[in-house]
Amino acid sequence: MVSGVVLTSELLERETWLEHGFGTRHDGAWTPDASTARLKQTHSATSVSTFAPGHFGEGDALLSTQQGLWLEIRTADCVPVLIADPVRRAVAAIHAGWRGTAARIVAEAIEQLVDAGSRRADLLAAIGPSIGACCFEVGKNVADHFPDDRIHRDPRPHVDLIEANRRQLIGAGVQRIDALGRCTHCDAETFHSFRRDKGDGRMVNAIRVR
Ligand SMILES: [Zn+2]
Repeated sequence: MVSGVVLTSELLERETWLEHGFGTRHDGAWTPDASTARLKQTHSATSVSTFAPGHFGEGDALLSTQQGLWLEIRTADCVPVLIADPVRRAVAAIHAGWRGTAARIVAEAIEQLVDAGSRRADLLAAIGPSIGACCFEVGKNVADHFPDDRIHRDPRPHVDLIEANRRQLIGAGVQRIDALGRCTHCDAETFHSFRRDKGDGRMVNAIRVR
């Protein structure tokens, strides 16, 4: 189905009506331009619903029920979250870096799904590879945004963005959540890491209704 090397969530793999993948540094930018919707990602709390391929301005979450349309977000340390509603056959792809997480992009995207008719208890969520709490050392200004997910270490605090997003999903009523638990910064063989590489390499994460 896809070229290159992508990882998948067991939770979403069971849903035969959708396809998805979390990219690696070997993913070969695997989503075809002709059937992919993308955004100019700005670390915002803006969700965009779309039914056609192309670029859809600024935002950090894409939602659709359109068959065959890939929703793509690109990451290199930020948290990719893919969401599926098996009842409505709706999908969402979310980019949640620390700013987006603090702005509650995941919760905002779920509200938009609910506004469109999804029931919270039906939703499935997969949290892909991102910088882990092991490596996300931050200054006080960043740590202060995450009172529940900061870890006190000398000399500087660390923040657990995966847990922060899991907490946001649970708070929004999502009950079934799969976190791949892979740290992009720890595993240079597999992943791009913006913090480690200081480069422009990004992984392609995407989901679509078949
Ligand atoms: Zn790490």
